Amino acid sequence: MDEIKEKDKKYIMGTYGRYDLHIVSGKGALCRDEQGKSYIDLGSGIGVNSLGWCDEGWIKAVEAQLEKLQHSSNLYFTSPGALLAEALSARTGCKKVFFCNSGAEANEAAIKTARKYSFDKYGAGRHNVITLKKSFHGRTMATLTATAQESMHDFFFPFNAGFIYCEKDMDEIRAQKNVCAVMLEFIQGEGGVIPLDEEFVKELFKWCEQNDILFIADEVQTGVGRTGTFLCSEQYGIKPDITTLAKGLGGGLPIGAMLAGEKCEKTLGAGAHGSTFGGNPVVCAGANYVLSRIDEDMLKEVRRKGAALKASLEGIKGVKSVSGKGLMLGLELEKKKAADVVKECISRGVIPLTAKDRVRLLPPLVITNEQLEKAVSVLKEVIEG
Ligand SMILES: *Cc1c(COP(=O)(O)O)cnc(C)c1O
Repeated sequence: MDEIKEKDKKYIMGTYGRYDLHIVSGKGALCRDEQGKSYIDLGSGIGVNSLGWCDEGWIKAVEAQLEKLQHSSNLYFTSPGALLAEALSARTGCKKVFFCNSGAEANEAAIKTARKYSFDKYGAGRHNVITLKKSFHGRTMATLTATAQESMHDFFFPFNAGFIYCEKDMDEIRAQKNVCAVMLEFIQGEGGVIPLDEEFVKELFKWCEQNDILFIADEVQTGVGRTGTFLCSEQYGIKPDITTLAKGLGGGLPIGAMLAGEKCEKTLGAGAHGSTFGGNPVVCAGANYVLSRIDEDMLKEVRRKGAALKASLEGIKGVKSVSGKGLMLGLELEKKKAADVVKECISRGVIPLTAKDRVRLLPPLVITNEQLEKAVSVLKEVIEG
């Protein structure tokens, strides 16, 4: 075992079961380990490296900002954050953006906004947030509470009050009382790449509108082009009151964003919320560059590559079904265990992810056709072998 793996195991808290892979450098969808072996990336650092590793334009944008100003705090004005908020508003129609540093923080901001929106209008007591079974919303106490997966709730009691877990069932949802918001992922990512039914989403959205309940779309994984449209909500034909983004937004630097629509654009005022690092100029410069690259041509390519990838995966013997949209796909396997498939793929130079009992693919949006074809042939060998 190399020295770094030893130090990591000795000194870093064991919260991750790491694969036996030490990545030292990367370019596009390819990376190398410490021995110089090459790998095709089908994970993007869990949907983060949307432009792949070390994109040249992105490095330039980040470096240029780094040489001007690395941080100033939110007491003063800086330009990258203002430009990023403007770009996000132009892309999504949102009115206001709150910047933070991760998906969980973006969802925390959304939960706080929903609670205060309801308090301002209706007074105390209307504070419940409905989330869906198998959801994943983060690891902080509030977002972990929002995450409706029993397996993640061991040990950490007591949880925050005011969260209700529902099946994807309108009768069950309609029966809940004192609800201020519904929070959901259009495609449940960590839960196994499970897309929500369009009919259900539309009905739920209508119910929220009619009852002045905020509709919060957690697009931390599905957002920023991942599913073939800038936001996945576009494919469901709705405009959520709040959308949260993180993973792919910064191109590899830590950023979270809560996008608020008309209803709640003024809910959080001075002093109501904040983040020391939120809107950091270097990180926002990276995100501005990512947005400049994710244009209509790029989105069209994501849809085309996603459809081709899905079709070729469906042709693999031992794959029961392929779920997801764009370049966010999940493989349900007939016999093999997803974790074993991923381990075997890594040893053969391809890096997929898992999500529950599925193999999950989140390749960089810029992956080439050749790289995808090569990766599929390895997946095929491993799954059929
Ligand atoms: C990853 C993820 C989060 C949490 O993001 P962090 O940056 O790890 O806090 C929240 N929601 C969804 C849908 C995610 O995929």
